[in-house]
Amino acid sequence: MVAAIAAGRAGAAVTVLEKGDRVGRKLLATGNGRCNLTNVDLRLSHFHCNQPEFVRGALSRFGAFQAISFFAKLGVLAIVEEKGRVFPRSGQASAVLDALRWEMEDLGVEVRCGSIVKEVLRSENRFSVRTSAGQQMVSADAIVLATGGRAAPSLGADDSGMLVALSLGHSLVQTFPVISSLRLASPWLKHLQGTRFLTAATIRVDGEIATASFGEALFLEQGASGPAVMDVCRIATQGVRAGKTVELCLDLVPEAGVGQVRQELERRLVMRPDRPIAAMLVGYLNKRLVVPLLRAADLPDLDQPGRNLTGDQLARLALVLKDWRFPVTGSGPWSAAQATAGGIDTVDVHPDTLESRLVPGLHFAGEVLDVDGDCGGYNLQWAWASGFVAGDAAARLT
Ligand SMILES: Cc1cc2nc3c(=O)[nH]c(=O)nc-3n(C[C@H](O)[C@H](O)[C@H](O)COP(=O)(O)OP(=O)(O)OC[C@H]3O[C@@H](n4cnc5c(N)ncnc54)[C@H](O)[C@@H]3O)c2cc1C
Repeated sequence: MVAAIAAGRAGAAVTVLEKGDRVGRKLLATGNGRCNLTNVDLRLSHFHCNQPEFVRGALSRFGAFQAISFFAKLGVLAIVEEKGRVFPRSGQASAVLDALRWEMEDLGVEVRCGSIVKEVLRSENRFSVRTSAGQQMVSADAIVLATGGRAAPSLGADDSGMLVALSLGHSLVQTFPVISSLRLASPWLKHLQGTRFLTAATIRVDGEIATASFGEALFLEQGASGPAVMDVCRIATQGVRAGKTVELCLDLVPEAGVGQVRQELERRLVMRPDRPIAAMLVGYLNKRLVVPLLRAADLPDLDQPGRNLTGDQLARLALVLKDWRFPVTGSGPWSAAQATAGGIDTVDVHPDTLESRLVPGLHFAGEVLDVDGDCGGYNLQWAWASGFVAGDAAARLT
């Protein structure tokens, strides 16, 4: 949509071919319906691509300020929240979509829904596009392929656009789900499923700390999710894919050091020395976490009274509360993911125009490319920035 607007503003006659029955379906789901539309901290380290410098071209032309002012000019005012995240002031993703749709309409952009792009052919400096709708090819001087990634197939995502690019000679960096849940190996997951808690989540790869995040986490039947886990999912999945040993380490008492946790456990033991040891943790942690934690601390007889705990056992339990480890076996499914790592290889794309180096006139925008951003507005920022640059460049060829 931003590519269509940029091309329309540059004077091109634009047609949007959309597979679904409406444009921008995924946009409505973003930011839990609030649309985290960009982030004021756009350091390149928040973006991931086989060529880390690739994103610089589009982001330097269309950064967070340009995104905020682009939407302000369309009537969508923004507010900045914690960690630099920018949301529409109205708190509604639908306002962002309305503004984009109306601007396309005002520019005379033709939108054809229910048109799945099946094939793109190039001959004599023109493109012919075969879609699922009707026999007639759509012809164009230039094309922007903005078909998104594979995350959230229920919202219409698939790899059909990537296949079109492959058929034109482009290559693909292998894709995997990011900003997603993690699959864990633990016999306790069925018991823990549905339990939410605040945590500092750390990923260890071959024993070394690789990344960490703080926030809410949630156990699932086969793993864990929630913002803290989604933040660290990319590095964990990369490690697993590289054949390394990856662990998710949960700190259940991030506000205290291990010594303080031990003191608190001792204080709680003195309160109820004759109750079973599990009673010691009730009111300190979510009850569903208690038995698996005691087991992880290697406390075998959970029915024994708290006063029987040895100093060593108490110290072990304090350590587990601060560093509860789970082997990671991979990322969750595409349905749980918010973005796609990998995509069309950027080596064959000009960073300043997003035009193909292999097929003149073909441009790329958004998640279809091998670019993904951290959680926090980075993926939409990439979609707007690359869309703007690609649409503008494509229009100059018409
Ligand atoms: C639940 C959820 C929440 C998210 N929240 C945020 C957030 O708050 N902030 C953020 O920055 N990012 C967020 N993201 C990520 C963000 O939505 C995507 O990175 C962004 O939408 C990518 O934009 P895009 O235009 O490249 O692709 P998309 O938004 O996926 O759009 C691609 C469009 O192309 C159409 N299409 C695909 N193939 C074809 C074809 N062959 N022919 C015709 N049409 C086709 C699709 O139907 C779709 O409408 C979230 C993602 C999800 C799933």
